[in-house]
Amino acid sequence: MIQITHKDLDKIALEHYEAIKDKIDIKDSILKKIILAKPNELKSIAISNKRYDEKFENKYDNFSTIKKEYCAYDLLQKLNITVCPYCNRNTIYNLKYTKKRTSELDHFYPKSEYPVLALSFYNLIPSCKICNNLKSDKNQEYINPYDKQYNFNKNIKFNFKVKDATFVHSTDGFKLTCKADKNISKDEKRRGRNNIQVFKLNDLYQNHKDTVLELIQKREIYPDSYIDELYRNYSFFNNKEDVLRLITGGYVDDKDLGKRPLSKLIKDISEELELI
Ligand SMILES: [Zn+2]
Repeated sequence: MIQITHKDLDKIALEHYEAIKDKIDIKDSILKKIILAKPNELKSIAISNKRYDEKFENKYDNFSTIKKEYCAYDLLQKLNITVCPYCNRNTIYNLKYTKKRTSELDHFYPKSEYPVLALSFYNLIPSCKICNNLKSDKNQEYINPYDKQYNFNKNIKFNFKVKDATFVHSTDGFKLTCKADKNISKDEKRRGRNNIQVFKLNDLYQNHKDTVLELIQKREIYPDSYIDELYRNYSFFNNKEDVLRLITGGYVDDKDLGKRPLSKLIKDISEELELI
């Protein structure tokens, strides 16, 4: 549910192609199209190049194992994605000394069904093990985090609903939900709901209601005037966003949501509380 916003994606994709092209016996111009296909082109490219499926046999397994030459570890090192974009809950890191990694590369279009996409850059989604497991092998039309056309931040929102007066001190006092925005198109809504359902976000985020409760309490503690005062009084804040990060515990700018777990939850609830 978080878009991958790395500014050098096309450059990294090209380097990925350059590093693997000699290992696959297909004419360069065709291979380049397959490896660099954009998220919305992947399926049609897989269908029109089905005849090359067998050329990719075992290629991913080989790529994903640790070795001295270019492999999945190196790709993840370049991408520097440290929080799973599907759930925004779990961190995913490379382990420098052993060259192991805590992440998986999810095949957005399963390699069992579309072998030709086994190494396509925009089909390889860095994710946590839990999300990769939750997703069945059948493609359920969830959303590719590389898809720039889908506005995750606007289309999928967390919100809370007060149940009773205990909401300021108890997680039982409010309801937390993750849902697709009601003002978006039918298709965007369907894809957003699929995303929430596939990765069990509503269920899993019930475990993070304590974070929401803290935000509710912080709203009480920090009126706007006090936030302004903190900014004015402490020179180590570069801007007001720094103050808000200190208060909310999460990054609040859209482009930074992937920097720390739960930032999307924190941003949506903080907006609802008019804390940011
Ligand atoms: Zn995840």
